[in-house]
Amino acid sequence: MRINRLLRLGIGAIAVTLFATACGGGSDAETTEDHVKEGKLTIGIKFDQPGLGFRDTDGSYQGYDVEIAEYVAGKLGVQPDGITFKEAPTARRETMIMNGEVDFIVATYSITDERKEKVDFAGPYFVAGQSLLVKKETTDVIGVESLTGNKKLCSVKGSTPAQYVKDNYAKEVQLVELDTYSRCIEALRSGSVDAVTTDDIILAGFAGQASGELKLVGNTFTREKYGIGLKKGDQQTRAKINDAIEEMIADGSWQKAFEETIGPLRDSTLTPPTVDRY
Ligand code: GLU
Repeated sequence: MRINRLLRLGIGAIAVTLFATACGGGSDAETTEDHVKEGKLTIGIKFDQPGLGFRDTDGSYQGYDVEIAEYVAGKLGVQPDGITFKEAPTARRETMIMNGEVDFIVATYSITDERKEKVDFAGPYFVAGQSLLVKKETTDVIGVESLTGNKKLCSVKGSTPAQYVKDNYAKEVQLVELDTYSRCIEALRSGSVDAVTTDDIILAGFAGQASGELKLVGNTFTREKYGIGLKKGDQQTRAKINDAIEEMIADGSWQKAFEETIGPLRDSTLTPPTVDRY
């Protein structure tokens, strides 16, 4: 009888272990709170957007989103050496959060109702707006009103600017959708597209890198509220990240981070947004 019971316990233990292994071992089942307790966080950023989320040739990370990520991590109790940055391309962001590949994403990520069906957002920590980037010699694209005559416009798959073009200018322009904005910039430089469209702040970063070869034209024509995307339903982490954003604005670090990264490349005034405690 006793042996039988022991045997059953043993089989039970093996089954539990097998189940846990099948679920990806410890890490996938762990929450962001668990990661914070262990002093580590995996944060999704862009790797190719100068001044915002950029991985340098020496492997270091720079930009406004990187500063935001490090400040927020610090407030949660995680030091910079406990952060692993992962590339979070536009079209993969919701999936990466839902799969637990990252704890959260700080990557020029607009808060939208559609995305909120899959993930939650802390913030906003910044408000950008869609704009257009062309070569310096271009004269026939001066703003959104020039989106006519079958011009070729590059944007990124899964982005809000690409969607905006599809919704509003599908008949007037040809939309070329690539995986990253750096690819769109290559297409613009090589002459295979007439303009690149996305948030003004992203375009300003690329224009700054291109030392006068590329220029932003016209006014912004959408409002892109940048949020920090995280697992849907993780109210606790979201509230803590919102607290951190508010503190960052209040103690001057938010302004300083902006001025030391993308700020000098953008000429409009900076107003801090109000965090949305939904
Ligand atoms: N903010 C826009 C978006 O979230 C465009 C920038 C991006 O693709 O990261 O889709």
